[in-house]
Amino acid sequence: MKSAYLKGPKKLIVQDAADPAPKPGQVIIKVKYCGICGSDLHAYETGIYSGIIGHEFSGDIESIGESVKGWKVGDRVTANPNIGCGTCYYCKRGETNLCMKLLTIGEGGAPGAFAEHIPVRADLLRKLNTMSYEGGALVEPLGTLVRAAKYSVRPGDSVLVMGAGTIGLFALECAKKYGAKRVYVTEVSKLRAEVAKKLGADQVFNPKEVNISQKMNELTNGLGPDVVLECIGKPETIRGAETIVRKGGTAMIVGVSTVDVPTNYLGMLIHETAVKGIYAYSVQDFEEAAQLIERKQIDISPLVTGKIGLSDIVEKGFEELLKPEKNHIKILVDPQR
Ligand SMILES: [Zn+2]
Ligand SMILES: [Zn+2]
Repeated sequence: MKSAYLKGPKKLIVQDAADPAPKPGQVIIKVKYCGICGSDLHAYETGIYSGIIGHEFSGDIESIGESVKGWKVGDRVTANPNIGCGTCYYCKRGETNLCMKLLTIGEGGAPGAFAEHIPVRADLLRKLNTMSYEGGALVEPLGTLVRAAKYSVRPGDSVLVMGAGTIGLFALECAKKYGAKRVYVTEVSKLRAEVAKKLGADQVFNPKEVNISQKMNELTNGLGPDVVLECIGKPETIRGAETIVRKGGTAMIVGVSTVDVPTNYLGMLIHETAVKGIYAYSVQDFEEAAQLIERKQIDISPLVTGKIGLSDIVEKGFEELLKPEKNHIKILVDPQR
């Protein structure tokens, strides 16, 4: 089968791989779509792990291993890519994202879905039911924002979302879903800013033209927003999230940065601000994300801006998403093409 194998920084090679056979407890999925995630871009640039990557996928069950019950060939599915050990403190609470022996599909722990076929443990599957394959591939990124919003947004809150890529746009939609009264968004790309407005942002600001801290103070009686959802992952925006949020508010760090960011601990103490990280989703958060898409309570229609075949994954996928003007939001790869 065709697959995209990450071998080092900027070395993503489309090559032949052996067709996987299901081990006991596993199924093989014929992949329909696999989304390119911000964390995939990060891995592509750094070569932080190797193997077949891709973890936001949907497809059809093609074959079934021993002792798998409740699934049949042809079932349309997506899957939670976090493979928990099932026995540790966190797994018992459903927080497989925090598992002490966590392996993640497509992030070095197990083969990913930028491939024609992928083996998946049956207990990680989720039926698409009425969801489209596109929707199925978006459950995974939405799960992270369900978790971020659940931990931070209270009814009536004012929220600032920094960045309007897939993660920021889902942050905006989840903040509204969880009761935010006002959601402001920062974004430099015109296309993304327009989509943010379409999805219900009260106002969108270009941080290159507007002083965001000042603007937020103006809009919140000099207080600052109750919650900041940082969805960019740059040191300056992470620092910004922490300083823009109101006293006693919460800055949620969703964007990925592997660079150390200095923190003003005295400021945090005096302002009683909470700075919290979010890593993926629990089993419950993933299910809630699936239900939000299934019930059409989250609009995914403006998010998919490109669909490409596996052989174009580097040129029309990863390299395209790394361009500074970013005229894309989510690109889905169809490995059968
Ligand atoms: Zn992802
Ligand atoms: Zn575990």
